[in-house]
Amino acid sequence: MAAKRDYYEVLGIAKGATEDDIKKAYRKLAIKYHPDKNPGNKQAEEKFKELGEAYEVLSNADKRASYDRFGHNAFAPGGGGGFGGTGGFGGGGFHDPFDIFREVFGSGGNGGFGDIFGEAFGGNSGGGRQNRGNDLRYDLEITLEEAVKGCEKEIAIRKYDTCDTCHGSGAAAGSKTVTCQTCRGTGQVSVSRGFFTMAQTCPTCRGAGQIIERPCPHCHGEGRMEKSSKIKIKIPAGVDTGARLRSSGQGESGLRGGRAGDLYIVIHVREHPIFQRDGEDLYCEAPISFVKAALGGELAVPTLEGTAIVKIPAGTQSGRVFRLRDKGIPNLRGHGRGHLNVRVLVEVPTRLNSEQRKKLEDFAAACNEDTNPASKSFFDKARNFFS
Ligand SMILES: [Zn+2]
Ligand SMILES: [Zn+2]
Repeated sequence: MAAKRDYYEVLGIAKGATEDDIKKAYRKLAIKYHPDKNPGNKQAEEKFKELGEAYEVLSNADKRASYDRFGHNAFAPGGGGGFGGTGGFGGGGFHDPFDIFREVFGSGGNGGFGDIFGEAFGGNSGGGRQNRGNDLRYDLEITLEEAVKGCEKEIAIRKYDTCDTCHGSGAAAGSKTVTCQTCRGTGQVSVSRGFFTMAQTCPTCRGAGQIIERPCPHCHGEGRMEKSSKIKIKIPAGVDTGARLRSSGQGESGLRGGRAGDLYIVIHVREHPIFQRDGEDLYCEAPISFVKAALGGELAVPTLEGTAIVKIPAGTQSGRVFRLRDKGIPNLRGHGRGHLNVRVLVEVPTRLNSEQRKKLEDFAAACNEDTNPASKSFFDKARNFFS
């Protein structure tokens, strides 16, 4: 590697240069050596890289202090200069010089350098005439019933909305929109920078080509202002937590009548006291008496549309699941519905009066334990195990 030039020398500034001096020097030289201005010129490319490197170090107070103390050794890979990788700066790790570029011109803010660059080097074609309003996000909590059936909700949000006074034009009553005198309606002006000329977004009309004679006093010419609005949202049947619904054009209003952004509704389904949901299927647990489990009968279970009757066959064991077809969640795309799965739990009475106790004892005496299939199988196994 060739000996590195001193960073101050690269930027053509003195050791005591201020932050501003550094920025200015970098801008000037970066424009001069930018690869797009010097196609195929290897020397310019090298200079441009060298500039980016020097700027990255000198524009950062910490890195600059290290550089002042240790020189290039401060950033040598693994070098003991006391800068071992702090902030990911271990030698050669310079990021894309174009990123630095954007930083510099973005943060400058004064004089619209970002625009010059964008247009001069074909960065973002079409010019920066984006008046579109921002997209918004709203988190909406609904009940499971609402998610299943679909519903309509009215939400209240504060956002930039079209100004009532000027109806979005940004012009005061009776005021006209006239052609911008600075750019004569083209939205661009030519600027000389050293030995070349570049097109720049017109600073007077900000590229619109038109200006308002007298801005609307209500919104100061923006055509929009912050206010509360109520928006009706239609929630389709079958939505689940995490679903994103887009309400087109319900985001922030654009500047001076620009297109409005979109509103995204993010759905959160509240937990239900009885039902658990898994996709389109619902699950719940229902207790039944041990008598009903033994003798069979009917069990009333809740569904999302009132009560349904489940036929319990005689000899039903605890934990058995009964499936109620099409009592689950409707498919979001209209393909049928999920099922409701009811798991029955046999409940053993905890308190018996003397009469009940007597009857159960008689029942036990009348029973041959071997008639209970699970018990029989269990005791058969146990017998084999001990013998
Ligand atoms: Zn207005
Ligand atoms: Zn103009």
